[in-house]
Amino acid sequence: MSLSRYHKKRNFKQTPEPKGNKPRRDASKKRLYIIQKHAASHLHYDFRLELAGVLISWAVPKGPCLDPTVKRLAMHVEDHPLEYGSFEGIIPKGQYGGGTVMLWDKGEWIPEDANPEAAYRKGDLTFTLKGKKLKGKWKLIRINRDDKTWLLMKLKDRYAKPLDTFDITIAEPNSVKTKASLEEIAENYKSVWGKKGAETVKKKSTKK
Ligand code: MN
Repeated sequence: MSLSRYHKKRNFKQTPEPKGNKPRRDASKKRLYIIQKHAASHLHYDFRLELAGVLISWAVPKGPCLDPTVKRLAMHVEDHPLEYGSFEGIIPKGQYGGGTVMLWDKGEWIPEDANPEAAYRKGDLTFTLKGKKLKGKWKLIRINRDDKTWLLMKLKDRYAKPLDTFDITIAEPNSVKTKASLEEIAENYKSVWGKKGAETVKKKSTKK
């Protein structure tokens, strides 16, 4: 787990995303779990879990589903810094991942395995989510060895719901941080950059 791929893909003079500090973990602290809804070239949900001082990450095109019979494709992507867990705003056009980022869910994850790093390397992670939107038991499983293709699925418990009666991506589309929609985030933020590099500033809302 390292941030070198994350850093290589980005120009921090051009994007307001955090650069990230040295990985470090306080063993007594809860492990961060977040999902960012990301309107890039294609809308997807970035699923991130704190492990070994970084956020291990997957891009889930269709987003999570509470139905245990539905498996969602989860493409493994580069590790992100822990500070990314609070990022909501705009990645400038032309930059890697350019588009609107919404903090869609946030909370804690509790690995089932006593050694979650080994379970992750094995490609088989079972865990409990304590998010605002996603709760209960979940699983991330790698389809093939040395492949980036994983599946995200809900396990049966009292938080499971059949997809034909409830789709959480439709029922709860907005930001867990600000309640804003993707459109409102795109309206309310603009990215500016100058000598000191990129920063995201909030525009005064013109809405009454
Ligand atoms: Mn993304």
